[in-house]
Amino acid sequence: MPDRMVLLNPGPVNISERVRKALATPDMCHREEEFYRLQAAVRAKLLQVFGLDPKEYASVLFTASGTAAVEACVSRFVSPAGTLLVVSNGVYGERICDIARRYGTKVLEVKCDYTSRPNLETIARALREEPRIEAIAAVHHETTTGLINPIREIGEIARDRKVPLFVDAISGLAGEELHFVEANVAACAGTANKCIQGLPGICFVIIRRSEIERMAKIPARNVYLDLVNQFRKQEANDTPFTPAVQVMSAFNEALTELLEETVPARIERYRFYSRILREGYARLGLKTLLPPDLLSNTITSLRLPEEVKYEPVHDFLKARGFIIYAGQGQLRSAVFRIANMGVLKEEELRAFLAALEEAIRSLRAS
Ligand SMILES: *Cc1c(COP(=O)(O)O)cnc(C)c1O
Repeated sequence: MPDRMVLLNPGPVNISERVRKALATPDMCHREEEFYRLQAAVRAKLLQVFGLDPKEYASVLFTASGTAAVEACVSRFVSPAGTLLVVSNGVYGERICDIARRYGTKVLEVKCDYTSRPNLETIARALREEPRIEAIAAVHHETTTGLINPIREIGEIARDRKVPLFVDAISGLAGEELHFVEANVAACAGTANKCIQGLPGICFVIIRRSEIERMAKIPARNVYLDLVNQFRKQEANDTPFTPAVQVMSAFNEALTELLEETVPARIERYRFYSRILREGYARLGLKTLLPPDLLSNTITSLRLPEEVKYEPVHDFLKARGFIIYAGQGQLRSAVFRIANMGVLKEEELRAFLAALEEAIRSLRAS
């Protein structure tokens, strides 16, 4: 297998050498000042990179994959008698529904097709008609397809009804625009190993401080994912459990890099990558699943060409050092996905397009 695999899957992504070196941090006890300094630095930088006021917002860290940050919020976002409205047009919206239901929360799912944006009037009407709806949850960037949901518009509806909005922004943060304040986001989930270019193992919630007070009045339904407890401990320079110390150190370095690059410049870099790739797909006659105005900067779902199956394309590309990603859920047999997050070089993207062309040509002929 080639030395460096170019990861064109939506996380974990290729990281910089600088972040990789930070992983080799000296052995460290998590109950010592050195670790608390590291934890505080990561929490502060998470607000700083997104331009958020630390008096208004806080970040809360978990040692876990991204789903834990979603679960920490969703499991305590509405009271036991309340209903959660979930905007759902992909696997990750469905996952929010699944989490909420498993914790015994009533869910009103505003569902639409995987390839379209939700109908805002349907959301507004549901809120008017169902007084028990206490909060809204939505996915920022639906990784299932690469679709960007209208978070700002959903946030306006939430503001009008005075209900908080939770956003799963795991694959979007730092790769796609998200205006926390204008979009009225009460809490959002993120992860270290997608567009922030850290390593897998740490996830986080960015939350309005007033929201933590609201959540504190709702009974905790879990121990490890008790967001209020994690917040209180981390605010007091403490931690309830053992964090992945070395992964945290790499995350800190990734955030420093992002502060230097800035979020707008990173979004622009990813947009540049996607432009190169999409021009290539058009030359190859490959069709995108989504219309251009719904496409994100970082994921393209392509229809499998006729007479071509996904697995042989994947294996052909893997042998040449490129990892692509299968379609998910109901789309598995019809599409495949190519992401462009992380540290990538323009020549790698061009080499990938050449390999993809060769794959399709040789697999069609066989
Ligand atoms: C990647 C992702 C997650 C979390 O996945 P993990 O495997 O738990 O890290 C959640 N939501 C979205 C939209 C994602 O893209």
